[in-house]
Amino acid sequence: MSATVSVNCNNCGAPLELASSTNFVTCAHCGSRLAVKRTASAAFTEKLDEVAAHTQTMSRQLAEIAYRAELERIDREWEREKAKYSSGKSGGADRETHPVPAILMGILVAGFGIFWTATAFQIQSNRRDFFPDHASPLDGCFPFFGLIVVALVLWGMVSTVMHSGEKAKAQDAYRRRRAAVTVEQFLNPQRRRAP
Ligand SMILES: [Zn+2]
Repeated sequence: MSATVSVNCNNCGAPLELASSTNFVTCAHCGSRLAVKRTASAAFTEKLDEVAAHTQTMSRQLAEIAYRAELERIDREWEREKAKYSSGKSGGADRETHPVPAILMGILVAGFGIFWTATAFQIQSNRRDFFPDHASPLDGCFPFFGLIVVALVLWGMVSTVMHSGEKAKAQDAYRRRRAAVTVEQFLNPQRRRAP
């Protein structure tokens, strides 16, 4: 069993004989500080400042991965939160509440409700004039369907406008949270905690 290993200096190429347990060596020929790396079948050297640069690149890459993961986490959270403001009740996560179409639709339906109520009152009073014997206890209710429609539509409009305000606020918070994330946070996690 050989207790030594043959490598070449990564800087000048000079052959070096090392004890097989050596992890760091200074090249006798050019003086480079070397790290000894091993794979299953071979050993080689890496200049230490290159190791440092490589390590820096690695931690930068890891920081970028962590950074992207954090952004994705914030995005997923927002997708879930956004669903709360969606008007589609049965899994319509993509249907958003837009206040302007909702208001226009509301005005239209409310107008129809008022028209309904007025017409129903008119028809009913005509009917009472012509057929006074056919009065029914439900007579008074019919025109009020229109008023109920108007009330429901107004309530819907108010809640839509309020919801879209809440959503805009939440979206603003989400954007700020996203913008506050930087790669540097993950590069220097200790420094981030300092005030
Ligand atoms: Zn050397």
